[in-house]
Amino acid sequence: MSTTNAVQIVGVKDYTFEMLMRIFKLADGYRDALAQRKFEELKVLRNCLAFNYFYSPSTRTRTSFDVAMERLGMIVEWSEAAGQFSKTVQGEILEHSVRIYCGYGADVFVLRHGDDDAAERASVVCKEMGVPFLNAGSGSREHPTQFALDFYIMLQDLMERGLVEQITNRHVLAKRPINLLVSMDPEFGRTIRSVVRGLARFLRPLRVWAWAPSILTLGEDILRELEDLGVPFEGYVTDVRRILPMIDIHYHQRPQYERMSPEKRKIVEMNEPSFKVGLHEMALLGGLLYHPMPIVNEVDRAVDTHPKARYFPQAAWGLPVRMGNLVEVVRR
Ligand code: ASP
Ligand code: ASP
Repeated sequence: MSTTNAVQIVGVKDYTFEMLMRIFKLADGYRDALAQRKFEELKVLRNCLAFNYFYSPSTRTRTSFDVAMERLGMIVEWSEAAGQFSKTVQGEILEHSVRIYCGYGADVFVLRHGDDDAAERASVVCKEMGVPFLNAGSGSREHPTQFALDFYIMLQDLMERGLVEQITNRHVLAKRPINLLVSMDPEFGRTIRSVVRGLARFLRPLRVWAWAPSILTLGEDILRELEDLGVPFEGYVTDVRRILPMIDIHYHQRPQYERMSPEKRKIVEMNEPSFKVGLHEMALLGGLLYHPMPIVNEVDRAVDTHPKARYFPQAAWGLPVRMGNLVEVVRR
């Protein structure tokens, strides 16, 4: 089997710090150009062919990839129910579909899939065929491009708050330990998994807490990684109000009910109201609140306009960050 050096982003570990910094620099420029509606200048990937394949539900991520591709002038081939059209109806194997689309001359392949191992499997084919690959969320494992956009806004906010000492060629060095709280679903939330993994790699020093129903725990693989990287996991918080004043980054997420067993789901549903973020929690929070969206019931609507709630700019800047990500990897 031949392999190529086409960039494959399956998980956060596939980004280097230099890559992320290049993506962020591009994103800064795209934000300005988008704001000034200088759309012609953005079409740097004209005629490049993108496959945007979503085998499991997504509206926001798919739309932001679509818009990013179109703003860059790409030809976009997309499906938002690829699973229905191929696998369930015709029994088509994922690797075969990917091979066929790559054979049509794809310059990048973006995949969202419900299976934990789907991104890895698709990436093996893409690598062999010389096509760059981006995982847009696979099962409960990882959502690396979401991490890129999360880190982009978090870094900007940390700088604005005067907490960054230096940006070296491998890390962001903070002036003091940055306190990260992940909450609600550290077990099935792939965005939480990616954000813990990614910040542990690229932001120093860091300390991590979790606040969640007791049957939803951070995976052993993540805990081991934190240990290897020398990042302390401070444990599960029971009285969140006590620690909120020292939290710099609060990353909240809806419970991923679609990935839980019926028994687990019942228990989490019973406990969910105790983990809701409202105005009282926001008043206590020392730092800022982030959320990958969609919000269902876990954040009070009144929080939407709170100055410490960052989830709308976080989502909006996802567009220029995804544009930067595409430019970084697309075959030209
Ligand atoms: N998990 C999905 C996403 O980020 C949610 C949605 O699209 O509505 O794309
Ligand atoms: N949009 C995120 C995801 O795709 C978070 C979520 O769906 O809750 O994982």
